[in-house]
Amino acid sequence: MSEAIDAVLNAVSAPIFLCQQDQILFANRAAAALLGFSQAETVGLPLEAVFATATDSLSGVAALNTPAGKLPVTLANETIEYAGTQVRLVTALRREQAENALPSSDLLFEAIFESTVVGIAIMDERGNYVRVNRTYAEIYGYAPEEMIGRHVFLVFQPEFHARVQETHDRFIRGEGTGVRSDWTVVRKDGQKLEISAFNNRLITASGERFRIVAVIDITEQKRTQQALEVSEQRLNSILNSMRDAVWSLWANTHQLYYVNPAIEILTGYTVEEAMTQNGLLLEIVHPEDRAHYLEQMHSVLSGNRIDIDHRIIRRDGVVRWVHQRFWAVRSPDGDRIGGLMSDITDRRLAVEQALQLKLEAERVRLLSSFIRDASHEFRTPLAIINTRLELMERNPDPQQRPEYIKGIREQTQRILKLVDSLITISRLDELRELVLEPLDLGQLLTTQREPLEQLAQHKAIAVKVEAAPDEMVVQGELHELLKALQMIFENAVSFTPEGGQIELRCVVPSEDEIALEVVDNGIGISPADQERIFERFYRVDRAHSTEGFGLGLPIARRITELHHGRIEVESVLGQGSRFRLVFPAFRPA
Ligand code: ADP
Repeated sequence: MSEAIDAVLNAVSAPIFLCQQDQILFANRAAAALLGFSQAETVGLPLEAVFATATDSLSGVAALNTPAGKLPVTLANETIEYAGTQVRLVTALRREQAENALPSSDLLFEAIFESTVVGIAIMDERGNYVRVNRTYAEIYGYAPEEMIGRHVFLVFQPEFHARVQETHDRFIRGEGTGVRSDWTVVRKDGQKLEISAFNNRLITASGERFRIVAVIDITEQKRTQQALEVSEQRLNSILNSMRDAVWSLWANTHQLYYVNPAIEILTGYTVEEAMTQNGLLLEIVHPEDRAHYLEQMHSVLSGNRIDIDHRIIRRDGVVRWVHQRFWAVRSPDGDRIGGLMSDITDRRLAVEQALQLKLEAERVRLLSSFIRDASHEFRTPLAIINTRLELMERNPDPQQRPEYIKGIREQTQRILKLVDSLITISRLDELRELVLEPLDLGQLLTTQREPLEQLAQHKAIAVKVEAAPDEMVVQGELHELLKALQMIFENAVSFTPEGGQIELRCVVPSEDEIALEVVDNGIGISPADQERIFERFYRVDRAHSTEGFGLGLPIARRITELHHGRIEVESVLGQGSRFRLVFPAFRPA
């Protein structure tokens, strides 16, 4: 059995020894040749005679004693059974061969050590630099040779020295290695750096212990991170102290993504309630404004920035007006809609009050001009009455008296008529609405033909009434309607010469409307005057030689408005005028 092993071992070209305790039991052919002995001579040789280096481990770097001197070899051994006993089989590989087998390992180490962007340093047990690569030295602003032999304290501020030494000792003991730790260090130029370090321990064959540290400069990274934190803090403090609510939600689910604390001031709901109750921001929108709100909010996704005013109902039930600005937020996780909500209730109230004040001022202005115009109208008849009375006093001739009294009576009538008109117009001004009932305008014309004809008699004006064959029903108040018609008719009589003609018609100007028309062939009205004749006290005749006061048309117009209708006028100077009172047709449901 052992011969067979011998034969196999002899066939191997590498030198092989079988060793038992401290002696050579067998050396193969190649090994014996190397030592300069025959194979037989090697048997029983003490190990010290063969190996030039320590023989306890019989592995790793070693040397053989040969006739040519010490031959560097690398030993490998394993235990095998040989001739019934346990022996060690030791293979010796010539060192050059071993190095040739792995020629690049040191080169590789050097290449990696010097070209890596990671700073690497090797320190001895005490903490002195044994080697540093170029990157390491550059990080600290030194040349590599300036660092060798110096203690690692070189790159630390004194207050850190105790801690540095303590951790260094731990690493040397093999504790806490392989873990990243961050440090503030100092460069040669005094500038501070933030570094991240990874530590390891190395023990050489001779048992020497070293610390290997790999370092990367994280100053920039830290600075960016700090800057980010600062700007985030700044943004947060702004958002937290704002009185306006800022929010954003996912466009597709309406799930709230963010809302600042101002939401509570505005709505009474806390940030937490808003974040957890899905759709709360939509629920608080006033029901009447909700459709518009949704439509506007989504239109921001097509790229518009939207501003709207709408109402919200606060948690306490109070309705407030808010202004909202929407914008789109594109993110890799999907589209969001951002919003800024400000309470504008007080501002709106102020605007409304300003408007009310303006309206009030306008009302006061209208009223005082009305009073001024009305007083003016009283002045003329009163002045006439006054003169007549003076004349009567100065001229006691009884023959003249009836003449004076007739004049005074006429002016008194005029004043009474004016007072009547003023009462009518102020009554109509105060009226909000009339109690209306269905009225047939055709019938109304037929029944009014006679009384109206009488009003035109003194000027021998012919009155024509066009009978309406169909029912022409509107919603009306009979007495007011008659008053309006009478005002228009009296004007037609006043401004039509003797022997003229007035036509009264009931017409259908459009499908939903019915109108009363008064057409005369009188003096007509210029286009400029047509625009003003509905103003109170306005008369085309500036000299006011005609009878009226300029209140007939305003009264007629107010009555028509109370019937939800309107007055139209068409006229050609010298040819005549057509006034039309247009009402909505009554269609019983
Ligand atoms: P008045 O009491 O003076 O008739 P209105 O308000 O009824 O006051 O009419 C205002 C003015 O409109 C009249 O003074 C007159 O100048 C003009 N006017 C009204 N109706 C007619 C008409 N049918 N033909 C010509 N002028 C008219």
